[in-house]
Formats: sequence, structure tokens, C-alpha cells
Amino acid sequence: MTTVEVKHYSMRIGGADIDSADRMPIVDPSTGDVIATVARGDSSHIDAAVAAAKASFEAGVWRSKTPQERAAIMRRIAAAANDVAEDLVELELSANGATVRQATGFHIGYALAHFTYFADLAETYHWQRPAPISNFPALGQAVVHREPIGVVGAIAPWNFPLLLTLWKVGPALAAGNSVVVKPDEHTPLSILAFARIAEENGLPPGVINVVPGDGPDAGARLASHPDVGKIAFTGSTAVGREIMRLAADTVKQVTLELGGKGPSIVLDDADLDHAADGVLYGCFVYSGQVCESGTRALIPAHLHDEFVERLVTRAATIQQGPTRDWETDMGPVIDGRQQARILHYIREAVAHGAQVALGGQALDEPGFWVQPTILTGVTNTMRIAREEVFGPVLVVIAYDGDDAAASIANDSEYGLAASIWSSDNARALDLAERIQCGSVWINDAHQINCQVPFGGYKQSGVGRELGPDALDAYTEVKTVHLDLSGDRGAKPYDILLTHAD
Ligand code: NAD
Repeated sequence: MTTVEVKHYSMRIGGADIDSADRMPIVDPSTGDVIATVARGDSSHIDAAVAAAKASFEAGVWRSKTPQERAAIMRRIAAAANDVAEDLVELELSANGATVRQATGFHIGYALAHFTYFADLAETYHWQRPAPISNFPALGQAVVHREPIGVVGAIAPWNFPLLLTLWKVGPALAAGNSVVVKPDEHTPLSILAFARIAEENGLPPGVINVVPGDGPDAGARLASHPDVGKIAFTGSTAVGREIMRLAADTVKQVTLELGGKGPSIVLDDADLDHAADGVLYGCFVYSGQVCESGTRALIPAHLHDEFVERLVTRAATIQQGPTRDWETDMGPVIDGRQQARILHYIREAVAHGAQVALGGQALDEPGFWVQPTILTGVTNTMRIAREEVFGPVLVVIAYDGDDAAASIANDSEYGLAASIWSSDNARALDLAERIQCGSVWINDAHQINCQVPFGGYKQSGVGRELGPDALDAYTEVKTVHLDLSGDRGAKPYDILLTHAD
């Protein structure tokens, strides 16, 4: 271990820094060094944060602003965050091991662009939608209102800490809610920094609160807190099930973005060079630690050997190295536990007949490194093809015919994203209709576009984030009916009242 400066960070509750004697170490996955400590919040801190959020909501300091005012403040926040984007990139990659290229473009670049998109939505959203005038049983009109829910709880994972937090905080704020964020234990730094920037640029105290802490303690309290009206979660399917259970007692609204085991389907008419690069990009970006990664490559049997050779040749050029070096292609995995788990999956697959075409080992370096790994001889029934490894492991599965490709692709408890590689758009579009996934990308991968919904079929989630309807999940619907007849006689009161006074 090398000696690095270790800075300490507090929680952010009600616009104040709140510290705790209990401290969590933040470790740089690329070195194994502790780079910071953070106050570990517990359920009592969640209670305080929810109380602060509730007080700010009831005071109307944010919800009572017009959508235009909220949008303007959100844009000011995004601009201020953009001014310090390099600092946010450093906070993000120092804790989650992303490469600087990826952290700049995806992690922070997308996060701020998407936050601005949610600001725009505040202005274009249909806050009130008049229903057609009705004349039965009497003349009247209803107007459907969308109103903020109140206190929204957001629980985020470590892979895209700021981005996936802002997918929740952005629409929640645009809709006028107050928020409590529980970041992942590994990665609270960029989120804490963003909350501070938000408060310095016009977000009233208490509207955003950030409580780093353990999932089963702080996270579980947030998911079950009676004053939280909605819980938005991104993380593993196992914890997603638990969140749903915890939210059930108080019947909260729930959005879940969970795991995946994405198929990358190469059709026999694909441009194989393009497809090979696309399949590798789909799997190995951020060391395979992306929920919608294409971790199962489905290859026509007669092209299998030729395609695997292309994959191996190209993947062998992927350079691992210091995450802050702009030449580095792929970084480490998140921690030692995850590194051991990934290597175990690889060993177990080999024991069941898979062959290692590339990689398969840890790097003998400080930090938590796994080589880009390609396994052949895999069938879709093997554990390595069914469970989310969340590491740089691509399995190659041979198939015969488009029907078999669709059936293997859909034979999964997950349904987050799929890619199809083909030179025939009509054929690819036809196949896309048969794929049970929330996103299907044709000749593309990781195509995260904030203007379209993102989320999963089956056990990959509940609800959708992003897209023009993103605020729906952060609002209550209220129908207000106004009688326009003024005519007592036109009303069906005689269903009840038939006798004289
Ligand atoms: P995780 O489920 O272990 O943790 C996610 C969050 O849940 C963390 O903040 C954690 O502290 C909290 N948590 C853990 N136990 C809890 C409990 N009992 N109650 C409340 N909160 C609890 O997931 P992870 O390992 O951090 O992230 C990786 C997972 O996230 C993968 O499965 C990946 O596919 C998924 N993911 C999904 C998407 C998507 O949009 N569908 C995006 C990114 C990641």
C-alpha cells in the first residue's frame, strides 16, 4: 500500500454536515488504498434525514416553486457541477475504479446531461390535463393533476453512483419532491459533492439529504420508513426483492432497476468485424460491471470458430492499467470480494466443461484486477450463463437458426437489454420483436438515451427510468371534478334520497 491523503466526509442532512464516530473507509479499487473515510449513517440518521425532507416538503420551499423555477435552479446546479466535472470524475473513479475515459463520458457526462433533461421535463410535463367535458349525469369537467408524492427515498449501487442517483433525484426534484439518498457503501463521494453543489446553487436545505451507510441498516430503514412515499432502487435482484418486501408494509410506490444477463445475438449476415467490436464493447466496458452488459454472445454455430478468433484477437488489445491514464482501456473490479467471486465463477465454469479462450486470471498487482475473459463451450443451462457475474466475463454460446437464438436469448430470469448484430434491418427488427427485454439495440450496445425509457422485463425490474414519462413515477395522480350544471335536479341524488324532509 502507498500512503495517500485520507480526507473525511460527513453526511448531509437538512443542509448541514452531520458526522458520526463510526467511519467507513473508501477504497480505490485500482490500488487497494484507502483514499477517504465517510461517516457511516444508521437508521437514526435516516430518520433524521426523512424528517428534514418531510419538513422541507411541508414548508413548500421547493414543491411550491413553479416548474419553471425548479427547472431554472436544476439547470444552474447542472452548470455548476459541470464547472467542476473533473473533480467529480476524480471522486467517482477513485472509489469505483472506472477509467478516466469512461468516468468522464459515461459516469459524469451522462449524469449531468440527464439531470438537465429532467429539468427540461419539469417545463414540458402535463401537470394538469383536462378530461373531456362530460354531460352525464350532469354537466361537469374533471382535471387530472400530477402532484409530488412527498419524501422520495433513493438507494443507489456503486457502479454508476452519480448517474443512477440522478436518474432518481432528477425526476423527483423536477416533480417537487424532497429526497433522501442512501448511496452504496463504496461510493458516496460524488453524490455528497453533488448535494453540496445543489445547495450552493439554489436548492433549499432539506430538499436533498444524503446518508451513506450499510444497506441492511440505513438502506432497509429508508425502504420501510412510514414517511417515505416512494422508493427508487437500483441494484441486485436479490436486494430488489427485499426492498419490495420492506416497502410493502406501508404500500409505497416502488421502482426497481435490477440485474441482467444480456444476450448479444450475432446473426449470420452480420458484419463480423463490427459485431466483434460491438460484442466486446457490450461486455467489457467498465469490466463487465454494467447491469445491461451483453454477457452472453450467441453465435451461429458455423461461424463460431471464426468469430471467437476475432473476439480473442481484438480483446487481447484491451489494456489494463492506471485508471487515471487516458491510455487505459479497462480498470479493476470493485473490491476483493467481487474479484474472488468472479474468479470462482470462471473456475466453476471450467470445471463444468467451459474452455478459457482468453484471460481467466487475476492480475498480480495491488488492487482488484481480473483479465478480460472469454469462455467457449458454454451452454445456456450452465450457471455462468444464467447468473449475473458482474465482471469481465463473456460466454460464447453457439446456436442454429434465428428461432434458436430467440429462444436462448429469452431463456433467462432476466430481461434488461439485448443487442442484435445484422446487416439486414428487417430481419433484425423482426427478431427484436421476439426478445423479452426492456431495451433491444440493433448494431449497437450500451445505447443509454435519456429520451427513451430504460428498465427491465421479468426479474430485471419494476417500472422504467428516463424517457418523457419519467416524472410519472414521482407523482401522485389526483382527479378534481367540478360540477358545471349548478342543477340539483340533474343529479342522481334520488338513488338515495326519495323521501320528503
Ligand atoms: P446491491 O444490491 O448489493 O446494492 C445496491 C444498494 O442497495 C446499495 O446502496 C446497498 O447498500 C443497498 N442495500 C443492500 N442491502 C440492502 C437492504 N437489505 N435494504 C436496503 N438497501 C440495501 O447491488 P450492487 O452490488 O451495489 O450493484 C450491482 C447490481 O446492481 C447488479 O446486480 C447490477 O445488475 C445492478 N444494476 C442495475 C442497473 C439497472 O438499471 N437495472 C444499473 C446498475 C446496476
